[in-house]
Amino acid sequence: MNDPQPENNKKFAELVGICWHENDPPPIYTMEYGIVLVCKCGFKTQSLTELNKHIKESNPDYAADPRLVLREMERIGKLMGFLIELNLGACGFIYSYILDETGKVRDAAIKFMK
Ligand SMILES: [Zn+2]
Repeated sequence: MNDPQPENNKKFAELVGICWHENDPPPIYTMEYGIVLVCKCGFKTQSLTELNKHIKESNPDYAADPRLVLREMERIGKLMGFLIELNLGACGFIYSYILDETGKVRDAAIKFMK
């Protein structure tokens, strides 16, 4: 994969209202468990390795699989408008976007929603 802007995965997730998993809230201290690491989604663990595994497995890579972008655009009711905006026809869309793994669909969707 050659995604020049991997940070756009987070940007896209936030635009379509999906939780982007990250070690965002500061760790909490509990009497029972000591230091507890917390993900933005509420997942809690005492292990940094486990937290990093959770984050890596939970966050989608929209550049590697452009179909994920299309599914989210459909879910929020903006797929048809997005495809009309691109105005490429089926062949142009497949060649220019669906086979791309650099984030072109994701980045076009971000631009469309702004
Ligand atoms: Zn999470």
